[in-house]
Amino acid sequence: MDFDFTDGQEAFRKDVRQWLERNVPDDLRGMAFASSRGDRAAVTRLRAWQKTMYNAGYVGMDWPREFGGRGASLADQIILYQEMSRAESPQLVNRGGVSMLGPTLMKYGTAAQQKRFLPKILTADEIWCQGFSEPNAGSDLANLQTRAVREGDVFVVNGQKVWTSMAHVSEWCFLLVRTDPDAPKHKGISFLLVDMKTPGITVRPLRQMTGEAEFNEVFFDNVRVPVENLVHRLNEGWAVALTTLSYERDLLTFIRHISLRNALARLVKRVRESGRAGDPVIRQKVASLWIGEQALQMNAYRSLTRILRGGQPGPEGSTAKLSWSHLDQELAQVATEVIGPYSQIAGGPAWVVDHGQWEFYTLLAQASGIRAGTSEILRNILAERVLGLPKD
Ligand SMILES: Cc1cc2nc3c(=O)[nH]c(=O)nc-3n(C[C@H](O)[C@H](O)[C@H](O)COP(=O)(O)OP(=O)(O)OC[C@H]3O[C@@H](n4cnc5c(N)ncnc54)[C@H](O)[C@@H]3O)c2cc1C
Repeated sequence: MDFDFTDGQEAFRKDVRQWLERNVPDDLRGMAFASSRGDRAAVTRLRAWQKTMYNAGYVGMDWPREFGGRGASLADQIILYQEMSRAESPQLVNRGGVSMLGPTLMKYGTAAQQKRFLPKILTADEIWCQGFSEPNAGSDLANLQTRAVREGDVFVVNGQKVWTSMAHVSEWCFLLVRTDPDAPKHKGISFLLVDMKTPGITVRPLRQMTGEAEFNEVFFDNVRVPVENLVHRLNEGWAVALTTLSYERDLLTFIRHISLRNALARLVKRVRESGRAGDPVIRQKVASLWIGEQALQMNAYRSLTRILRGGQPGPEGSTAKLSWSHLDQELAQVATEVIGPYSQIAGGPAWVVDHGQWEFYTLLAQASGIRAGTSEILRNILAERVLGLPKD
């Protein structure tokens, strides 16, 4: 594969760098690696930032022009993410919409769905949440029990989802439901687009160990969803969900990478400022993180090359997610060792480090090996679908 960017791509990098330097709002800059998405006021600021980026042509750049993107290459998209990281810009607030649902609708949605939903995903006028997991369907997602029964022009939905990130601030939800309880479990599932204001939906925030309530329980009690909001065919939602998940594990890892790089750059700064850059143990640990980050980047380029050659994200995206989660947790651990007890101060006192983000980062890192596929499940996928080993 080719590791060099073309002259045109480097020119693009220069433009985007200048734009970000001028435009990242001061109250968001540097708050990138552990910014909360649970707090409504923070989400309002992040929405405004996504809209500013959209107006400048930097959201959904790789989307085809017919869908409101710029038709830019994925390489340009990656350059944008790298520069966002350099500028300490936060990630896009509607990243589930932009990087998961958007590509899924482009592949499986009707023309009417694409026209209705894609533009507002880009502008963040409509934030989307992912209604997949249930109390008894996490790793074994196909075991989901939320039912949808067709009655005339609507599906009537009953059941419960859990761990639904940002459901309390989202306008819409992409939801997996069981539409044929008698079919084998992967075959009776459908993919619906649900307006979160529909009567019968109750959202209950769950307080996390970070202190914030970024995810929720969502209850559906006779919720009526128009049949035109079915994506792809009835009972064939599993294929749609797999597409969404592959984007979550592959492209979204590029985006998570932004936070990781930000945190690493900050950690290096902390090490230098504390005068411990000469300590061989600390040097070794930071160097190991740096090498891990570079390996993650090289692996991302490998995926990128495959996608650029006409492929789609495949099961090897699981490698990226798996290594990212290890690195994320290791980074949190090293930061705690280097910064010491001050890393556990969340904000307020004068001696808090980096706005208290390390405390948040360290606690949130515990979730890295769970969300978007647990490490055990990703190892199973890699063993079976990439290495061709016998089934679990
Ligand atoms: C911060 C965060 C945000 C999230 N956001 C969302 C969201 O927005 N939308 C959404 O739908 N979901 C979301 N999730 C849910 C997430 O996808 C699930 O937590 C995940 O899929 C694991 O499911 P579970 O929690 O039910 O654990 P379980 O599936 O019950 O797993 C429990 C443990 O058993 C292990 N295990 C299970 N099966 C096997 C097996 N076959 N082999 C080996 N080990 C196994 C798992 O690895 C895990 O360690 C979020 C989770 C977190 C932590």
